[in-house]
Parts: sequence; C-alpha cells; structure tokens
Amino acid sequence: MDPAPESTEERITRLHGQGIVDLHLDLPMFLYENRDRKNVLASDFLPEFEAGDIGTAAAGIYIEDQYLPDKALEIALGQVARIYVEVERCDRFTICRSYAEIKNAREQGKIGLLITMEGAEPLGTDLNLLYIFYELGLRVIGLTHARSNAAGSGGVFAPTGSSPKGLTAFGCELVRECERVGVILDLAHINPAGFDDILENTTRPVIVSHTNARKYYDIERNISDEQIKMVGTRGGVIGINSVLVSPKKEDSTL
Ligand SMILES: [Zn+2]
Repeated sequence: MDPAPESTEERITRLHGQGIVDLHLDLPMFLYENRDRKNVLASDFLPEFEAGDIGTAAAGIYIEDQYLPDKALEIALGQVARIYVEVERCDRFTICRSYAEIKNAREQGKIGLLITMEGAEPLGTDLNLLYIFYELGLRVIGLTHARSNAAGSGGVFAPTGSSPKGLTAFGCELVRECERVGVILDLAHINPAGFDDILENTTRPVIVSHTNARKYYDIERNISDEQIKMVGTRGGVIGINSVLVSPKKEDSTL
C-alpha cells in the first residue's frame, strides 16, 4: 500500500524544518560597501537571520550601474572577497558549494551561504571567467538584472516594452556552459524572450529566485502562469518577492 500522501501542512513543516531558504539577498554589495567595517555579518545580519529562522541564503553578486562596464569584474571579486572574510570572522555562517554542504551546515546549526550572481556583467564576454567564479563558489547565475548586457535583456517593470530579443549568441553559450559545469540558471529578471531561450538551451531544473505572479501584478519583470508551469515542468523552484518593487510609488511596499 502506498503511504498516505503528504498534506500541505506536513509539506510546509518538512520544507521549513531546516530553516527558511532565502533565494536572493543583496548581501555581497552591502558587505562591499561596508568594507571598512569588521564583523558586519555578525552585527548587521545574524540577529535577524536567527529571528527569522533563515537556514540558507543566496548571496547575490550585483554590480551597480556606476561601475559598468569597466569595473564590473573588480567589484564582483571584491564582493566575493568580502563574503569570505566575513564568514571567516563569524563561525555561525559557512559558504556552501553543494547540497551536501548545505545539509552539513544545517546539521551543525550553521547558516549556509550560497554564492550567486544577479547579472552576468562581471564575466563581460569571457566565458573562461565562469570557471573562475565557479571555483570561488558560484552556483547560481541570473543572466541579467532589468538592463541589457552581453548575454541578454531584462524584463521591464511594465506590462509591455521589454526587448523582443532573446539571448545573444554569448548568452546561449553561457547558459549551456553553466548547465555543463553545474551552475543553476536563475530566470528572475530575464525578459520573456530570454526566458524561452534559456529553457530551449537547457534541460535541467531552473529557478526563479525572486519574482511575483503577473496574474496579480502585470509587469514583464514578473512571470506569467504559463512560465510558472514551465518552471514546474522542469522540476524547478520559484522564490516569492515579499516586497513589491514598483516604479509607481503608491504600489511599492519597499
Ligand atoms: Zn533582483
């Protein structure tokens, strides 16, 4: 006889048993901006992580416009360096490079940090650099933020108006190489045409680390019901934005 199917409540309890997984946290940028301070993880993040029962957090490398394009690589490396230095100083955190390391971290009561990238600008057009970042611990990459880069274009914060173009040739190559190396593709922010191109060039599960349903807030930065089903068919995971980021001040909750 098959075991009784898991109820929704049982599933929630099981999934939250190892702590909340925050799939997108702008941590590296904050640590970099505060690089003159010590123990920023312990003082500025640990109390809230513990209060919120955060077990795993994806620390997303992100390069602000002011550094583009020339300083993207330098700033990205500076951000990764800050993660390493801060984790070294606070033994409640550990950098995880695999599922086994996340499990191990949780068994030791530590908070696992996953290194991710929001926007492929640090790579420029040099695929070789993917290997460097992989060695540094990069395990998830979103090709774009809201802007365009050498890999593709982001979805706009409006119902229409994103670039109709999909990924560039470099973007397609990057996506295939990520899958080969073992870097998860994150479809948050990518425009609709790029979303389709990523799925066409990959076969493994993808994630959308932080998004909302277009059905309830119709902007191309969010994802449609059809896209939600496409991610589900792949066995992927979708993270929900708990704040509404909107260009309309009256809508925004941030
Ligand atoms: Zn984002």
